[in-house]
Amino acid sequence: MSLPKQPSSGSATVYNYGSINIDHVYRVPHLVRPGETLSSTDYQIVLGGKGANQTIALARAGGQVSHWGQLGRADDWALETLKDAGADIDDVALLESASGHTVIQVDDEGENAIVLFGGTNQSFTPERIDELLTGADKGGWLLLQNECNDIDVVIRQALERGLKVAFNPAPMTPAIRELPLKDLALLFVNRGEAAALVDIDEQSDADALIEALQTALPGVNIVLTLGSEGAWRIDGERGDTLYQPARPVQAVDTTGAGDTFIGYYMAALQAGNDASTCLERATAAAALAVQRAGAATGIPTVDEVETFLKIAARPS
Ligand code: ATP
Repeated sequence: MSLPKQPSSGSATVYNYGSINIDHVYRVPHLVRPGETLSSTDYQIVLGGKGANQTIALARAGGQVSHWGQLGRADDWALETLKDAGADIDDVALLESASGHTVIQVDDEGENAIVLFGGTNQSFTPERIDELLTGADKGGWLLLQNECNDIDVVIRQALERGLKVAFNPAPMTPAIRELPLKDLALLFVNRGEAAALVDIDEQSDADALIEALQTALPGVNIVLTLGSEGAWRIDGERGDTLYQPARPVQAVDTTGAGDTFIGYYMAALQAGNDASTCLERATAAAALAVQRAGAATGIPTVDEVETFLKIAARPS
């Protein structure tokens, strides 16, 4: 078995135009009722946002990632987490306004209620977007999700400037279908996103989802993740498919599984690995993440993934 390639200093940078979210999580005996003042029994502040999670995963995988983001100055502590993971945070701007954040109540039954404020994730100006794209190396990758404003502008301008665009349409909205998806270098979708994108039943089997995606987006490389049912990679040029089963593990918390998968896939791709190695590494990393509580905190390091892969490869 040949060893997977690791990113080198010559690898094309991945620029991640991505959300950074601060989750304020309150433990409550029940979800607060209209007009009620309720004491919380526990309070935690957690770094979140699909953008930040994918950057952390890419960096922990050993990839070279520059996060394009915005954060309220009061939350600058969050930058340390991205930096400690190994991400380049030079292009995260600190603004005087409120960060993107959520106020989350979790009750004793595990039920939750969430208020989301887009904040700085939704206030990128045309000038800032132009500045970020102008500073990007030609031939680099742009990765993005759907939690920051003006992704249509960012995608179109990135394509015009010769960047390869990898897109994860999460959360899915009707406007996604109007984007130039046929020009993407790579599309990451989970079951719900795939079904919404091609307008078929979410419970459709993998073959039906793949066929519908191939028909809607011929020529696009697509990675379809199906939770514990594994992941598929559709080759846009040749039209063939690769399947990687999920690792049989005991899942504790699947939040962030998709973000971990995407970060590890992008890092393996950046290093020049073939699609099957990318799938294998992303799947191993996601399997480790689902066995831990939390999203960003559950993202494994590259050493943990290497160890997991070695143990899994041993004959039983
Ligand atoms: P999330 O939104 O929860 O971050 P997602 O819906 O974007 O995740 P999924 O398709 O659920 O993404 O999962 C991504 C990958 O994570 C899967 O392809 C698989 O490799 C791994 N995974 C997810 N759930 C499990 C599980 N229960 N056991 C093992 N691996 C899992």
